[in-house]
Amino acid sequence: MRSHYCGGINETHIDQDVTLCGWVHRRRDHGGVIFLDLRDRDGIAQVVFDPDTEASFALAERVRSEFVLQVKGRVRRRPAGTENNNMPTGQVEVLGKELVILNAAATPPFPLDEYVDVGEDVRLRYRFVDLRRPEMLNRLRFRSRVTNYIRNFLDSQGFLDIETPILTRATPEGARDYLVPSRTHPGSFFALPQSPQLFKQLLMVSGVDRYYQVAKCFRDEDLRADRQPEFTQVDVECSFIDENTLTGIMEQMIRELFHDLLEVELPVFPRMTYAEAMHRYGSDKPDLRIPLELVDVEDLVADCGFKVFAGPASDSKGRVAALLLPNGGELTRKQIDDYTKFVGIYGAKGLAYIKVNDIEKGAEGLQSPIVKFLGDEVAMAIMNRLGAKNGDLVFFGADSIKVVNESLGALRIKLGHDLKLLEKEWAPLWVVDFPMFEDDDKGGLTAIHHPFTAPSCTPEELEQAPEKALSRAYDMVLNGTELGGGSIRIHDEKMQETVFRILGIGEEEARAKFGFLLDALKFGCPPHGGLAFGLDRLIMLMTGAQSIRDVIAFPKTQTATCLMTQAPGEVDEKALRELHIRLRKPATEQAQS
Ligand code: ASP
Repeated sequence: MRSHYCGGINETHIDQDVTLCGWVHRRRDHGGVIFLDLRDRDGIAQVVFDPDTEASFALAERVRSEFVLQVKGRVRRRPAGTENNNMPTGQVEVLGKELVILNAAATPPFPLDEYVDVGEDVRLRYRFVDLRRPEMLNRLRFRSRVTNYIRNFLDSQGFLDIETPILTRATPEGARDYLVPSRTHPGSFFALPQSPQLFKQLLMVSGVDRYYQVAKCFRDEDLRADRQPEFTQVDVECSFIDENTLTGIMEQMIRELFHDLLEVELPVFPRMTYAEAMHRYGSDKPDLRIPLELVDVEDLVADCGFKVFAGPASDSKGRVAALLLPNGGELTRKQIDDYTKFVGIYGAKGLAYIKVNDIEKGAEGLQSPIVKFLGDEVAMAIMNRLGAKNGDLVFFGADSIKVVNESLGALRIKLGHDLKLLEKEWAPLWVVDFPMFEDDDKGGLTAIHHPFTAPSCTPEELEQAPEKALSRAYDMVLNGTELGGGSIRIHDEKMQETVFRILGIGEEEARAKFGFLLDALKFGCPPHGGLAFGLDRLIMLMTGAQSIRDVIAFPKTQTATCLMTQAPGEVDEKALRELHIRLRKPATEQAQS
């Protein structure tokens, strides 16, 4: 139907006849001449109709925004002075000869020919219109280039693209499963995969050696700001490999991707242990663009009379840390109050601070309500440890380790952005040596990565002190975002059983849930490991998009609904009956009846 994309015509086409197809981006009537900006995936071309071509001119008068047209005409140079240097097609225009209205369009829900701030709900409801906007289309195009690039890279490294089932059994990654009722097995349910984890491990047992998949994953979580109930992973697994070789291949892939698609040279990724990351940044995904660090001061305050500090300092589950903000003395009272509220979100009960007015004067030169409680000596010892200078501000966190890490870790990021302290554009790293387990709020342990991650110790050592054990897991972090994570896996049945036992998964339950995996471990399972990247997040970082929804063609809202299709939707009684499902009335209705 067309000879060229609208966005593709330029001076090399002058005097050629072209046929373009696209949407009317804008229509202008200029004293007897009609200008149509015709838009397609690749850009916009200006088409001019003059009254000499009578029939087409009459049609051109009738078209409105977003009508779908086919236009035949001849490319010519725009008259001097009317060029548009901001457009790739801005030196030329098409003198329209024939026009076919392929389809009319109702008035769009929001204009596309000018930037207007449109509510996200409207954009999501009319996503098919929203995606016409160049920035949206360009992100989809970029995403396609990234997946293509990754596929080619992995293919060149001998990885096989293999699909794994969507209708399956639960694969634990720490979230709730989406369930699908079985019609043929009354009362039984499939789970949608939280990841292809177990299948990719089984493929290693089968001898596939190197696997990858651009895989949809499903997690029914209470959605935090930037999560989606279904999302895409670049999922990878290899046999006969250790963490250095595997992370090396993955790092090479990401560096080449950034180089080739963004012309960005990422540095060699440093490695940091989980313990160091938590200690210095309060986070297992530290944003290393920000030069602020948490500094422990427990030893200095443990014996001071200030209970707020001394309490957590003497508690093995507590932490007292300081965060020095160079020149932070300029912050206003209101700003400090706002930061106090901000750390409250993370459970901090307050935000103590000291302003350094004149360090030469000793404690006299420190301005803060807490200096008198700490005592001059302790206050100065803290300042010395931090290397505080006049004009600096020191924030404190004193609470459980968790609250201090989360609140000061988040404050560090917020200060970094608010005060524009970012020192570089890209700061990647690997975080390694994660603990195997953490406390689960019910007095037991839960796997930090997943239960198939290999520990760095023997089953006996693991059993003896599980809370101390480290795992062979690794996360790739970029600018404070976890891009991907993975681990070397357990390939030994005894070790897998030990981990299940520590997690409180009894033999019977382990058999029922993961019998197939335990069987596979018996039948010659090679040492193996892998990793998965969050593709949506990667694209978001690479395109600078503000929301994960902006890099997904048809995303869900934060309450896990699709505003366009109105999913999830009710189903009729017959369908429910076939699935052997009877709905319970919502609790309020039940109470009334
Ligand atoms: N399955 C893991 C996840 O989804 C990734 C991996 O261990 O390869 O986080």
